[in-house]
Amino acid sequence: MLNLDFHPTGRHFLQIPGPSPVPERVLRAMSLPTIDHRGPEFGHLGLKVLRDIQQIFQTTQPVIIYPASGTGAWEAALCNVLSPGDEVLMYETGHFAALWHKMASRLGIKTRVIALEGTNDGIPNAWRNGVQVDLIAQHLREDHKHAIKAVCVVHNETSTGVTSNIHAVRQTLDELKHPALLMVDTISGLACAQYKHDAWGVDVSISGSQKGLMLPPGMSFNALSPKAIEASKHAKLPKAFWAWDEIIEMNKTGYWPYTPNTHLLYALSEACDMILDPHSGGLEGVFARHKRSAEGVRSAVNAWGLSIQCADASVYSPVLTGVLLPKEFDADAVRKTIYERFDCSLGTGLGKIKGRMFRIGHLGDTNDLTLLGTLAGCEMGLKVCGIALKASGVQAAMDYFASNPVTKPSAKNI
Ligand SMILES: *Cc1c(COP(=O)(O)O)cnc(C)c1O
Repeated sequence: MLNLDFHPTGRHFLQIPGPSPVPERVLRAMSLPTIDHRGPEFGHLGLKVLRDIQQIFQTTQPVIIYPASGTGAWEAALCNVLSPGDEVLMYETGHFAALWHKMASRLGIKTRVIALEGTNDGIPNAWRNGVQVDLIAQHLREDHKHAIKAVCVVHNETSTGVTSNIHAVRQTLDELKHPALLMVDTISGLACAQYKHDAWGVDVSISGSQKGLMLPPGMSFNALSPKAIEASKHAKLPKAFWAWDEIIEMNKTGYWPYTPNTHLLYALSEACDMILDPHSGGLEGVFARHKRSAEGVRSAVNAWGLSIQCADASVYSPVLTGVLLPKEFDADAVRKTIYERFDCSLGTGLGKIKGRMFRIGHLGDTNDLTLLGTLAGCEMGLKVCGIALKASGVQAAMDYFASNPVTKPSAKNI
């Protein structure tokens, strides 16, 4: 047996921005027996989850499901549509954008990385703001020969808590009549923040199971466009396991070319039923709940008198909130205190902002009271570490949640 009883009673608060807490319903769905992945029952399950996941991406185009972490789906997206030496324009919004860039370089893709310049409180502006479309436009405008084959952006930058405007990137490509593909990492954005694969004209959307979809880690996605599928027919980067063509073909009857992760598909089916349930408002209800949770958490951070990592209120993430600490404190020491004393995991500062900030996830199987518990853990931990707080953040969040009830979907929409 694993020793998971450091705190013998109560529930551990997993408040990192992924993996997120998995609902009991989803955990129980995974305890069903394994079935024949070539049998008739499996075909029904396969067709159902493929239909459901299309609704979540808001697309009518194929969605590929991989038994891999999000990183695998990043690679799949790149190697299906690009050839060695192709150039891509990538936008550095934070650590995950930087990792995707590193992967593209390793695959032999030429990368141009753009980022907002300057710093704010010792932190790169690029890591405190969303994608600036004028910077993208500048590069596209100068690219007369259309050397740039794809523009790659992260929708919800999980390392910082910033959600970029993807539709604006599409509009820029259209205005400049640039044929580059639009590839978007919405690994942590999907099923938390509004995301419209078709309406926003995204060519490849990449996502993962363990964030907004409330599943365990180990499954990831590529949502495609007809243009991306066409590009995949001519792209020369080596691809075999990741190749879309055979998967699309077999998915038509609900099967995969290899043994898929049956139990995660049970979980996906259950999670999609929860997310799409009209009684709780469907996808729009999901987005509204995340937005409200984020507001509550930010009201706490503001009451403490600490800074929110995202410096632009118009792109605050509904998924997580980055909390900056005064320079003289080590955010990881605070996290450690909160973990050891109060049994709550918070996200660490990644890459360039390690030690400067911690992240509070407000996604997955969470609600007002779990968030208030989390904020209480933070508030106690900050005080234990000697950080002076202006006022009680827990009180501010209670006031916010109490005076802003979750709006129920109207009966006529059910
Ligand atoms: C979690 C995450 C990833 C990495 O996914 P893995 O499942 O850890 O491989 C990439 N991008 C973003 C934005 C993420 O949140």
